[in-house]
Amino acid sequence: MNESRVREEICEFGKSIFDRGLTAGSSGNISVRLDDGWLFTPTNSSLGRLDPARLSKLDRNGKLVSGDPASKEAFLHLALYESGAGAIVHLHSTHAAAVSCMTGLDPASCIPPLTPYFVMKIGRLPLIPYHRPGDPKLGDAIRGLAGKHSSVLLANHGPVVSGPTLEAAVYAMEELEETARLFLLLRGQPARVLTEAQIAELKAVFKL
Ligand code: ZN
Repeated sequence: MNESRVREEICEFGKSIFDRGLTAGSSGNISVRLDDGWLFTPTNSSLGRLDPARLSKLDRNGKLVSGDPASKEAFLHLALYESGAGAIVHLHSTHAAAVSCMTGLDPASCIPPLTPYFVMKIGRLPLIPYHRPGDPKLGDAIRGLAGKHSSVLLANHGPVVSGPTLEAAVYAMEELEETARLFLLLRGQPARVLTEAQIAELKAVFKL
């Protein structure tokens, strides 16, 4: 893995995410697993203006070895990496964040399987109960899923999405945000969701 290429990729995807209004201000953070640790976006940085040379590099124990201090939400990523992911994106994207504030969600699957693309890129999306920012219990709650999910939605906060590569994680995040938007558009309308048999077919054909 070419670390300098990964650094550039984080900044390119960060700018693309910011420019499209998927996260505002200094919210949102990105990380990628390296052979010898992780690269993280720094704390209080805007995804729109990242500097490849100042990204935070953490060793395998999560200790800063170079660059600016990592995002205060790095512990969320480190908890989700236990599922074996290669990259993680966390945003406060509007529609997914709106869903995260709704009552009456199924905590095991808080956005229904409306489209095959959502099933293929996200699958079942569990809702992690609310904890204040920085509360280590949030990391424990993610770890408690025992690597069964590649993505989670933090209540009253936003999504944390992983993928085998950064590109895959960003695409999955975009699919989640668009499906959250569909879910909100369909509120109050009788909607057809994919059946268990249709989901099983997707899993078999696309080897999910
Ligand atoms: Zn956040």
